[in-house]
Amino acid sequence: MELISSPPEMQRRAELARQAGERIALVPTMGALHEGHLTLIREGRRRASMLVVSIFVNPAQFGPNEDFRHYPRALAKDCELIRNVPVDVLFAPDTAAMYPPGAETWVEVTELSRGLCGAARPGHFRGVATVVAKLFNLVKPHVALFGEKDFQQLRIIRQMVRDLNFDLEIAAVPTVREPDGLAMSSRNTYLAPAERKQALAISQSLAAARERWTRGAADANDLLGAAWAVLRGAPVVEVEYLEAVDAETLVPVRDLSRPLVVAIAARVGSTRLIDNVLLTFDAERSAPRHH
Ligand code: AMP
Repeated sequence: MELISSPPEMQRRAELARQAGERIALVPTMGALHEGHLTLIREGRRRASMLVVSIFVNPAQFGPNEDFRHYPRALAKDCELIRNVPVDVLFAPDTAAMYPPGAETWVEVTELSRGLCGAARPGHFRGVATVVAKLFNLVKPHVALFGEKDFQQLRIIRQMVRDLNFDLEIAAVPTVREPDGLAMSSRNTYLAPAERKQALAISQSLAAARERWTRGAADANDLLGAAWAVLRGAPVVEVEYLEAVDAETLVPVRDLSRPLVVAIAARVGSTRLIDNVLLTFDAERSAPRHH
């Protein structure tokens, strides 16, 4: 595995690979890799001849009072985890190289960034869209893989690709969960054992909403009611939002005639977690499972 930290060097490497006829896949991450990331990476391996994983904790997507400084960093362990896939290039630039002094251009996907996490984290998706656009220009992928765990992010990236004519395919990977249903996240490492137990109410609330949907709910309030009934049993879980939104527009919906997403963000202690369930006619794929 090649380790590249210089953006111009990454760009040269990608251009040479393209000239040699390689098909490039990119999996952008912030590191502290877990099985969710590894699932994206293995899917990337399947879809390309040259697989690039990026690890960059992007300061532009963190708010002033968020966990940028404390975000878990584990480069040596991450290298071990991906070595066997195998990954061809690990691109791990530092902040100064990605944002040299004087940078002033931003990518903003306006409407899709308004609700859900965008409302609670002003500037977050502007930071995400900007860094992903930069990564696309540096790695020149034919395909880039993103998780449904961050559903709003996935939708925003697809919109950016369409609006700015990026010449690549976006592939989505269903949410990977712990055996008990908790969505995998690098931030799960923040949870104390008692918090970890209560955090389970997040995925269980979505499982309840999905269950209600499967049995023929009247409207979105029905689904949200089923979810709230679970959340009331876990007082440590402080809900930031719980919404049923159109899977395409991310606008809150009442009726259930089109594909929708039930999405939640909640604080467990000081840890902010998100999760969602996609309710389409092939909803089995991303459903939380509980044993
Ligand atoms: P992050 O390192 O958290 O920025 O995530 C990097 C990529 O991995 C994003 O596309 C995420 O949506 C995806 N991802 C993170 N957690 C999961 C998960 N539990 N299942 C599937 N994809 C995930």
